[in-house]
Amino acid sequence: MPHDHDNHFDDMTAQVRALETILTDKGLVDPAAIDEIVDTYQDKIGPQNGARVVAKAWVDPQYAAWLARDATDAIASLGYMGRQGEHMNVVFNTPTTHNIVVCTLCSCYPWSVLGLPPVWYKSPAYRSRVVRDPRSVMAEFGFTLPKDTKIRVWDSTAEQRYLVVPMRPEGSDDLTEDALAALVNRDSMIGTKAATDVGAAQ
Ligand code: FE
Repeated sequence: MPHDHDNHFDDMTAQVRALETILTDKGLVDPAAIDEIVDTYQDKIGPQNGARVVAKAWVDPQYAAWLARDATDAIASLGYMGRQGEHMNVVFNTPTTHNIVVCTLCSCYPWSVLGLPPVWYKSPAYRSRVVRDPRSVMAEFGFTLPKDTKIRVWDSTAEQRYLVVPMRPEGSDDLTEDALAALVNRDSMIGTKAATDVGAAQ
């Protein structure tokens, strides 16, 4: 049977609208509250928050030390807290060790600093393969590391969420913290990519 992707999406949208209408009519949900949640995750909570954390860690060694010691508090000090941001751990890439994050069980993810997880993060393929063979998963993201770089895979849980601080890009010494934050792409904070090269940021 032919299956048009756009129609499928429209069906889904229609079903969600119908469900929202029923729940609203029954007084079970407040549409304003739904709009507020959607706005929050579209505009206010997303990888731009994690990028601020990383940029600050790059320029401020004391902040980086705080992140290493108590990531939850250090991140909350910038105003990023709440749902799925409790019990944060921050792991730092170095020239000899690269970190990559997965949730093998389901899709635990640090919402407060990265927003909602990408579809691939939740896929069974990523979740199983990244543990066995992180290098080939990273290669599929176009990211290769020297053979002797150690790779550590961190398995998230409801109790522990991880944020990766990627290596600070070459040639970024003179950049402001704002300009540095623009180099911190989402995937670099999961560990499937490097930070964006200087000059390649949009
Ligand atoms: Fe999970």
